Amino acid sequence: MKISWKQYDLQLKHTFRISRGARNVVPVIILTLEHDGIIGYGEASPAKRYGESLETIDAFFRKTNLSQFDSPLQLEDILTNVDSIEAGNTSAKCAVDLALHDWIGKKLGVPLYQLWGLNPKKTAQCSFTIAIDTKEIVEQKVREAAEYPILKVKVGLDNDEEMITTIRRVTDKVLYVDANEGWKDKHLALERIKWLKDQNVEFVEQPMPAEQFDDLKWLRDKSDLPIIADESVLRLSEVPKLAEAFDGINIKLMKCTGVREAMRMINTARALNMKVMMGCMIESAVGISAGAHLSPLLDYADLDGNVLISNDPFDGVRNIKGALTLNDMPGLGVTLRQ
Ligand code: MG
Repeated sequence: MKISWKQYDLQLKHTFRISRGARNVVPVIILTLEHDGIIGYGEASPAKRYGESLETIDAFFRKTNLSQFDSPLQLEDILTNVDSIEAGNTSAKCAVDLALHDWIGKKLGVPLYQLWGLNPKKTAQCSFTIAIDTKEIVEQKVREAAEYPILKVKVGLDNDEEMITTIRRVTDKVLYVDANEGWKDKHLALERIKWLKDQNVEFVEQPMPAEQFDDLKWLRDKSDLPIIADESVLRLSEVPKLAEAFDGINIKLMKCTGVREAMRMINTARALNMKVMMGCMIESAVGISAGAHLSPLLDYADLDGNVLISNDPFDGVRNIKGALTLNDMPGLGVTLRQ
């Protein structure tokens, strides 16, 4: 079993601004796993918020020795080993998880959704993200997103009201709101949520910083809208505690080490009566397709990371008017574009 990896710079169609900063280009690493004449693809899209960079991913892959295993079919043993190499490094671990799953699907000749017994016609309806910007650009972006039935709006700076009123002037479609930990005061957060409820918003994602757990608990008890954890949740072990402060969790493959752990998180959240959302980083069709294969199990999907880029190196799941449309190719169903 051989791995190799290469950097791709994903170009964003628009500058992407959230409460933590802005970006135009997002470098990701594509991992290639080769065994028995079959190639599996994985992807790591590192987030500084979780301590990763291109350098940490490169260093992690150098420590990853898959040649000690006979076959990618020993998935459990391999991923347990990879997880134990070093703490953190969740997007690097995700790349290995995705490449193994892609390889296994190809080896067995089935798409992943079929391997998991899921109905590809039941993929969750995907939202389209509107990042923080000026009134003029937000209005333009909402018009450009006319084909998408659900919008996810980034807030958390001091123009929240302007963002929402600008959008509401243009459309009455379903809105999700994501503050990305932008509100630091619980009373302010509650006030904003009350106002958002009147703007016909469906839920609020990560209103306050993850470290302010007690404030988040206070807020959830008083909030009229469901509160979904994003920055507060990385991996499986954190989910039970979060049920005290959140109504649901936003799972991201790059935070949770891949589809194997994501599946366990979905099951755990369901056992705790929590809503399940899946989000993404800015990713190519490799990462997005992996999420899409799992999406029949979700309440909410925010898997638009590759719709926001102009140079996706891969073809895979298609986002057709917000409907995640999977093909019937084996594994992740992705092909490298020429
Ligand atoms: Mg979020």
